[in-house]
Amino acid sequence: MKTSPLSQQDTLLTQTGRNPGAYAGYVNPPLFRGSTIVAESYEAWESAKKSDNPYGNYGRFGSPTIRAFEEAIAQLEGGHACHVFPSGLSACTHTLMAFLKAGDHVLITDNVYGPTRSFADGQLGRFGISVEYFDPAIGAGIAALIRPQTRLVFLEAPGSLSFEMTDIPAISRIAHAAGALVAVDNSWASPLFFKPFEHGADISIQAATKYILGHSDALLGTVTCNEHAWGIFQPRAQLFGETAGPEDVYLALRGLRTLGVRLRQHWQSGLALAGAMARHPAVSSIMHPALPQDPGHAIWKRDFLGASGLFSFVLASEDEAVLSAFFGALKHFGIGLSWGGFESLALPVGKPRRTASPWQAAGTLIRVHAGLEDTGDLLADMLAALDLAHARGAGHEVKDALRPATAEALR
Ligand SMILES: *Cc1c(COP(=O)(O)O)cnc(C)c1O
Repeated sequence: MKTSPLSQQDTLLTQTGRNPGAYAGYVNPPLFRGSTIVAESYEAWESAKKSDNPYGNYGRFGSPTIRAFEEAIAQLEGGHACHVFPSGLSACTHTLMAFLKAGDHVLITDNVYGPTRSFADGQLGRFGISVEYFDPAIGAGIAALIRPQTRLVFLEAPGSLSFEMTDIPAISRIAHAAGALVAVDNSWASPLFFKPFEHGADISIQAATKYILGHSDALLGTVTCNEHAWGIFQPRAQLFGETAGPEDVYLALRGLRTLGVRLRQHWQSGLALAGAMARHPAVSSIMHPALPQDPGHAIWKRDFLGASGLFSFVLASEDEAVLSAFFGALKHFGIGLSWGGFESLALPVGKPRRTASPWQAAGTLIRVHAGLEDTGDLLADMLAALDLAHARGAGHEVKDALRPATAEALR
């Protein structure tokens, strides 16, 4: 059901969320700052009140800059409407709070973004909501976990540390039949490479901090809903008073214009790195759904339009000295959180937190973000660091029996 060819999206990216005719011909919508917006008369003030905005106009309810960005994201995701939040995590937590109430049950994928998991574990129980995690590979097996109280299924595909794919259409069909809604954290693919609403989702979340802003200089999140979910989400989410700063939103609109060309480069370099690293003896497994040998490849190929530059691998060592040598040798990869900027990153994860699907890979999970540097420079840098890690012992001590099937298939 791929109804959105990438080439047409490039045109959309240049046109969406702006209207030069409304702003004296200026190509970009202006940056509106403001709290108070005065009315010219009593009548104008009263008529500005709407059901979603009972106080008339006020900065917290959005400016033309914010509306332009929200409209652009809703259009790119293929949803009905969008609300922007000050961070990606805030978009995730407000989704959980808006759709759940005391007595409800929520099913969350075991590879969900860590801080979303921390919020679910630490806060939802306090409000009488029960949280259950499931194996991201569960597919139609999720039917066995659905209860009469299940109101929401929260997905992230691929998970942003361990990159397992999830069968979103199969899970959505079962959730909907049981009267539950489906939310997808779509940050990895961005609104360009996965269209959640074409595959059954009711809600799509972006950590716009990542590829949409794209320059590691601000934080933002978005929640886009279909019409039904928006009717529930909009009035509730608004009550929390979360308002994104106009400069950050302006930067996000600016970032959107180059999302297509940037993502193609992230995709190409990420795949080149993952392909070469998969054959390196210091690497015991590699997690990238666009690699043909990846367990999630068939689903990725069926549902996604492309791959971004974020993937993980398991370094076949847990020795601190080997890790120090590996990270010390990298010249083009900074050690840092987040991703989606123009610069490459490598992050020592260790072992991801799991409860429903235990993490079995021996070694150290390391997440890589392929930035916009020259692909050849990145490859040479990464392979030299892996050579050094291998020389210091990585890959010598891991028993073949413990190597995941993916790595075996690549040898
Ligand atoms: C980074 C990230 C978030 C949170 O975004 P912030 O802007 O850092 O709060 C949420 N989901 C995923 C998948 C992420 O990678």
